[in-house]
Amino acid sequence: MTINSDKLVSTFLKLVQIDAVSLRERPVVDFLRERMDELGLFWIEDDGAVPYGGDAGNLIVQTHPGHEPVLFFCAHTDTVRPTRDLVPRIEDGVIRSSGDTILGADNRAGCAILLTVLEQIAAHPQQYPPAEFIFTFAEELGLYGAAALKPEHLRAREGYVLDSSRPPGQYVAQTPSFAALDIEMIGKPAHAGVEPELGINALNMAVDFLRDFPTGRINDNTVANIGVISGGEASNVVPGTISMKGEIRSFDMQELKQRVRAAADRAAEVAQRHGGSMRFKDKIEFEGFTIDPEEPVCTRLHAAMRALNLEPEPQVYSGGSDANIFNARGRRAINIGIGAKKPHSNEEHIAIADMEIITRLVLELLAGRY
Ligand SMILES: [Zn+2]
Repeated sequence: MTINSDKLVSTFLKLVQIDAVSLRERPVVDFLRERMDELGLFWIEDDGAVPYGGDAGNLIVQTHPGHEPVLFFCAHTDTVRPTRDLVPRIEDGVIRSSGDTILGADNRAGCAILLTVLEQIAAHPQQYPPAEFIFTFAEELGLYGAAALKPEHLRAREGYVLDSSRPPGQYVAQTPSFAALDIEMIGKPAHAGVEPELGINALNMAVDFLRDFPTGRINDNTVANIGVISGGEASNVVPGTISMKGEIRSFDMQELKQRVRAAADRAAEVAQRHGGSMRFKDKIEFEGFTIDPEEPVCTRLHAAMRALNLEPEPQVYSGGSDANIFNARGRRAINIGIGAKKPHSNEEHIAIADMEIITRLVLELLAGRY
């Protein structure tokens, strides 16, 4: 299988020079829509971004409309920071920014690869099975687009997300579930020098709470952290409110829920004992998943990688991606490494060879008989 590398690179360079951060993705979605129209491919854009105030929705491309798609592939259209005034540089086969912006390879490299694959399918539709290609919005803000996808736009049972910064061959086989915590201890401010006994010290409440909130690596499954503590007004005022932001990540969803519940109970108990009150907010940001090496979504990936002389290397990754949403919705999804290194930083870069091999991998996943 040969691919047009120059075209792949020029598509990527065009895509990264479109400035389109999360929820301001209209220009990049319009670019993709125009290319689909040129290729004669069927696409739908949903209205999933409307509740978020986004200017473009998920773009879903069906390669063989009217036929059940056997696989889906996904990339996201937003970048985490602007790429305005980006001047890409190519040196020794590696593409970088000139150092004052991100490159945007996360995830325009995924978009460029899928676009190149779609060009190939449009040219030889009979060589490929029906598939759906999903370009999601606002992944960087918290997987908004994937979460907003309607069931009729996610029909294939299995698929691959092209959004891991790992090198080709590596893929995310396991991620923890993630709960964000936002806790406020509410006491009562009073003049600390004149009548401290009239106050209820929210800082003492927070300290009491934290004494029984384990942090760091709790066991093989679970880590927890309180990362932000803020509050108080002045050195002569008994602190009236202290807020704490933290998180718990665990490979065991039951344990995660139990720990969140225990923290909420503890905060309530502390507040009551001090005569104050509290607000406890928790949110499961994403659900974890574990892909078994015997599952078809995994055996197919291994076979396709080996056909391209890539050694499959399953990875544990503590962050989330659109694959978390898809797996939570009963699909089997693997986030594969595309080699977009140092994402979100001005040092972000990607090797042209890595984009080429992942393009060939997607074509192999589709056309190979695994
Ligand atoms: Zn990404």
